[in-house]
Amino acid sequence: MERLDETDRGRYVEVLLGMRAQAQKADLWLPHMPPEWGGMGLTHTQMAMVQAEAAKTYYGPWVLNCQAPDEGNMHTLLHWGTAEQKDRYLGPLCRGRAMSCFAMTEPEVAGSDPTLIRTHAVLDGDEWVINGHKWFISNAHRATFAILIARTEGDFDDVRGANSAFIVDIPSDGWTEVRQIETMHGSTGHSEILIEDLRVPVTNLLGERGGGHKLGQARLGPARLAHCMRWIAQAELALDMMIDRALNRYSHGSVLAEKQGIQWLIADSTMELYQSKLMVLHAAYKIDRGDDFKSEVSMAKHFVANALNRIVDRAVQVYGALGYSTDTPLADMYQHARWARLADGADEIHQWRIAQRAIDAYRDTGSVGSAAGGLPI
Ligand SMILES: Cc1cc2nc3c(=O)[nH]c(=O)nc-3n(C[C@H](O)[C@H](O)[C@H](O)COP(=O)(O)OP(=O)(O)OC[C@H]3O[C@@H](n4cnc5c(N)ncnc54)[C@H](O)[C@@H]3O)c2cc1C
Repeated sequence: MERLDETDRGRYVEVLLGMRAQAQKADLWLPHMPPEWGGMGLTHTQMAMVQAEAAKTYYGPWVLNCQAPDEGNMHTLLHWGTAEQKDRYLGPLCRGRAMSCFAMTEPEVAGSDPTLIRTHAVLDGDEWVINGHKWFISNAHRATFAILIARTEGDFDDVRGANSAFIVDIPSDGWTEVRQIETMHGSTGHSEILIEDLRVPVTNLLGERGGGHKLGQARLGPARLAHCMRWIAQAELALDMMIDRALNRYSHGSVLAEKQGIQWLIADSTMELYQSKLMVLHAAYKIDRGDDFKSEVSMAKHFVANALNRIVDRAVQVYGALGYSTDTPLADMYQHARWARLADGADEIHQWRIAQRAIDAYRDTGSVGSAAGGLPI
């Protein structure tokens, strides 16, 4: 469907809410959540199929209420929230009556290393007083609450135990949206937030005190994979479009689809799409089984993000000048694809971890097998 003009906010919300109502009526609501929360109770493997179809349009995941960052926040609240927190924050999120954001990254320190986080919270009676600075907080502009990561344990030996997670109501005194950051895909709700003497009741600590790093990492694993599922949808769409154009564009005696140079682009993209699907399905299967999935999610995240960028780039190439125009969705897809290699762990961080696991596996067992998916071949 045609991308709606988000500046016409009233019309945008009206159309989105209409589609959401239809999804609910058709029992296609909250595919990732258990039935007791109004969801379909699908496994991660099943979710791969849903997301890889839904995200072929920009609105698909929003319509089903399984979009980032709400999806990850729902999982987080489900696993770490108290009964009161679930009632107050998870319930409205599941019913589509609230939106949320996840606030971890800061402009002053490398987001790749969450042990450097400077935003800090100090206990004052039955409230936490929080000061700090966050940016690139997706959805903050629309959110009714944030899950915020802040440092609580100043002189803790293990810095990975120094951060805690808090639920922050938006708006709140002390939480100021400085701006929506203008990015290469526009100013679409990645906000900079100033936090000054923000008071949060002790009951809004999410999970255990000092458990923020653990919670962040646990949240990010499945959330990263959910991004991969949506990227597969975009990669497949780009490949479909590439072939469609190649079948219809005529040059030097034949259509582009008959040129070997173009067939190579199609072949490479097809193989990468297939690899992406297998990697995502295997990582999802490991999550579903309760196995350690860190390695598989890391490899999938790196591979799919890069495959997406290559496939969309090839599609632009096959479309020629039209691909560079905004007459097709490719330019928009190209701009969106670029952040996939930065957010939720930059390429190099995943490569570092993947290499570490391969070296450790070889050192410990004489084989890299367990680091390469632990497959029986
Ligand atoms: C569109 C978008 C949405 C986002 N949404 C959110 C959100 O909702 N909430 C949130 O908290 N954050 C969000 N982020 C922030 C994102 O998670 C960070 O950008 C990411 O963690 C990287 O942190 P950084 O930008 O500070 O880069 P840095 O950590 O400064 O890293 C910059 C580059 O340095 C290199 N690098 C860093 N460390 C190493 C290393 N150890 N070894 C080798 N190379 C290294 C990598 O090439 C990396 O790309 C979003 C970002 C984008 C672009």
